[in-house]
Amino acid sequence: MTLIIGLTGGIGSGKTAVSDRFAAKGITVVDADLASRAVVEPGRPALQAIEEHFGSEVITPEGSLDRALLRQKVFADENERKWLEQLTHPLIREEIISGLENATSPYALLVSPLLVESGQSQLTQRILVVDVPEAVQLERTMARDDNPEAQVKAIMAAQANRETRLGYADDVVENNGSLEDLDRQVEQLHQRYLTLAEG
Ligand code: ATP
Repeated sequence: MTLIIGLTGGIGSGKTAVSDRFAAKGITVVDADLASRAVVEPGRPALQAIEEHFGSEVITPEGSLDRALLRQKVFADENERKWLEQLTHPLIREEIISGLENATSPYALLVSPLLVESGQSQLTQRILVVDVPEAVQLERTMARDDNPEAQVKAIMAAQANRETRLGYADDVVENNGSLEDLDRQVEQLHQRYLTLAEG
């Protein structure tokens, strides 16, 4: 079985910056966010179930899911959120597993902002946390998304805090330096994971 490394970190910590660097070395990267979008694409059974449950208003004229409207609906109603999670979580897990099974590299990465909270870490043998001071996280996310400070802070408050995340880390990338520094750290980890994958 392929060695699976779980990669996690808070919003704007640099998960994509890190996973892109592993991908450039030929490592298979499975993204839990992409998997969660894939399971509700047009033609997939989950989209039909969502339409039957919430009504056709959650489907755009182009036939895809109106994610913003659905988010509003489940945000306002705990039971609806649970219904949606019970439908999608097992499908997302299957989607992730099939991506990992198709890995073509000596080890693979599973990138997920909610790796541990979602239970997806059970699919991994090791957890790599991207760590940045909160001020850097805030600054980079605001610059990237052009979002107001309060909105980014609210998302950060809803996620696991820095200490909790570091508590379950087997390996840590410190991403408060330059992108060149990130390259060096990823290369070191890559060598470590290649060795582990051989063992
Ligand atoms: P999200 O959880 O929102 O998907 P993420 O953890 O994937 O975020 P990235 O998108 O990789 O985070 O990084 C956030 C922003 O910070 C991006 O604009 C990225 O280019 C920038 N960034 C990441 N690392 C560095 C760095 N070391 N130096 C400068 N900018 C960086």
